[in-house]
Amino acid sequence: MRSAWVERDAQAAVDRYGKAGIPAELALRVYTTQLLGRDPKLVLHGGGNTSVKLRMTDLVGEAADVLCVKGSGWDMGTIEPAGLPAVRLGTLLKLRARKAMPDDEMVRVQRANLIDPSAPNPSVETLLHAFIPHKFVDHTHASAVLSLIDQPDGEARAREVYGASMGYVPYVLPGFGLAKLSADVFDKDTHVEGLILAKHGIFTFGTDAREAYERMIAMVTRAETHLQKNRKSVFVSGAIPQQALSLNDIAPILRGACAVKDEKTEGAFTRFILEFRSNDAILNFVNGREVADYARRGVITPDHTIRTKNWPIVLPAADARDGGWREKARAAVAGFVADYTAYFARQNTRVGGGRTMLDPAPRVALVPGVGLVGLGRTQKDARIAADLAEAAIETITDAEATGRFTPIGEDDMFDCEYWPLEQAKLGAAKPLPLAGQIAVITGAAGAIGASTAKLFAAQGASVALLDLDEQAANAKAKEIPGALAVACDVTDAQSVADAYSHVVRAFGGVDILVSNAGAAWQGKIGEVDDALLRKSFELNFFAHQTMARHAVRVMRAQGTGGCLLFNVSKQAVNPGPDFGPYGLPKAATLFLVRQYALDYGAEGIRANAVNADRVRSGLLTGDFIKERAKARGLSEKDYMSGNLLGREVTADDVAQAFLAQALALKTTADVTTVDGGNIAAALR
Ligand SMILES: [Zn+2]
Repeated sequence: MRSAWVERDAQAAVDRYGKAGIPAELALRVYTTQLLGRDPKLVLHGGGNTSVKLRMTDLVGEAADVLCVKGSGWDMGTIEPAGLPAVRLGTLLKLRARKAMPDDEMVRVQRANLIDPSAPNPSVETLLHAFIPHKFVDHTHASAVLSLIDQPDGEARAREVYGASMGYVPYVLPGFGLAKLSADVFDKDTHVEGLILAKHGIFTFGTDAREAYERMIAMVTRAETHLQKNRKSVFVSGAIPQQALSLNDIAPILRGACAVKDEKTEGAFTRFILEFRSNDAILNFVNGREVADYARRGVITPDHTIRTKNWPIVLPAADARDGGWREKARAAVAGFVADYTAYFARQNTRVGGGRTMLDPAPRVALVPGVGLVGLGRTQKDARIAADLAEAAIETITDAEATGRFTPIGEDDMFDCEYWPLEQAKLGAAKPLPLAGQIAVITGAAGAIGASTAKLFAAQGASVALLDLDEQAANAKAKEIPGALAVACDVTDAQSVADAYSHVVRAFGGVDILVSNAGAAWQGKIGEVDDALLRKSFELNFFAHQTMARHAVRVMRAQGTGGCLLFNVSKQAVNPGPDFGPYGLPKAATLFLVRQYALDYGAEGIRANAVNADRVRSGLLTGDFIKERAKARGLSEKDYMSGNLLGREVTADDVAQAFLAQALALKTTADVTTVDGGNIAAALR
């Protein structure tokens, strides 16, 4: 591992932050924290923290000795000075005299001694940073160090590699106890350059930012060098099918099997987004004959347990010639849930009860022949689970190649998983109404499609924006965090199949289809060109059918129901003169909605439609509005709001109607009219 310190960049950080009144020592603390945080072999998703001790002026203008330590919610790779809240050091040091300290009290004392009362909570490892007298303290969960110490003889290995340069702290749960024990180890030999925390990670210290950082790099490099020696080849491969099922087949099955049925609301599920990874190292690991053993021994460092659970689910190899994989996968998930539930019951009894079980679904799945899958309630959580799983694979592979991977035991994992301070990192926010759901929206670059995509994403859905115009879809997707843009010609069956593959690979499945793409053609029905009428049917009817058919295939593989939403038109109910080429296929689509509702209701797949009229869009452009208004002798405003309520209908109004239908679990075969009121077009 190479040092990423660049003197010029360090100086630039000092200059830049200096202009904002940030002292050089804090500027350099931010600089090296970012260096550590950007290397996934050192730090992943909150798995590390840093601090600096300095003197600053408090809010009443008095000088105070403080510890600036990483605050929760900040990512080390992108941290800023505000992410290192200052806590009065004197008070923290007094706590060392205590024998024990409850977590909630520790958090309260830390918060009460913040210089800025609006600062984020200081790290759960704040006291450890405080008790070490060095000015700069760096902490990581470096993969190579974990491979070295997650061993039955981890202490002996650490001593062999580090000699007297590092102290060795036996495993205890992070918090007050670990801080005190680490300080005791340090006091026994204050010459050490850092500490190795058994089964957890590494600390290094320094008098300046560079020294602490360079020591981290040097110590991790020593572990890396050690791991290159005397390696045995791992892993012996198991029987991998010649022809494995594709990710496209596997993902919806896995996703559906892992969804947790809501016992209170019929038809509701806790669903997950899937993040897929595969490379040679991952395949070597998941294809191993003994994968169910080494993969399931436990987490490489304690705080992974809140993100990945203690062990992944290991699925049966997915043989394309074996039609029974769905049942096998569902049985494997049921086994996982039973194991997790039993683990919780056993451990809850050990600690005297009173804990509430988290959802028992896996967060990491290993599929021999295919790769690994991270599962999360959001795309971000799925990505974090996948990142941690990849780091675990690297760490366990190196540990097994040089010894035997031996992590903390079940009791310690439970104490960490159900530690309120760890759970607090995940946040207690109530999930959004569409959390975990995946929505595919066609015509997504248009007004109604884009509004719907934006609204669904704001309600927690992962959205895929399909449009014929790839550039326009990309532009709209850029406005929505995490959104996927897919070029798709909905009238081309292959293009539709490819688009679904794209969505399934990116998110894992489909729960909601908003089949919105359409275009209007006019002509007096007795005189219209046959080719034009057929063209309109291709887009305004058959494309809806193709989109729905593919969605239903994915939904049935998931087995958790689903929702098909169609944009029909007022023309489907109340034909306008010369609008036959548009109204006729739309009328057929209205019946398509009812047919899907009828044929798939028993499987929980709902089909609904929104019947909107006179919405500014690609169909109803400014020029067209001007022309129609003029033809009727009306102002544009009067033309657009020429309905019973006298209100102009917007794309957002239509999006709201789609959302209501997506959330109405007991509603199917419904048509919701969004037209401001038009008695002639009222459904009866
Ligand atoms: Zn740690």
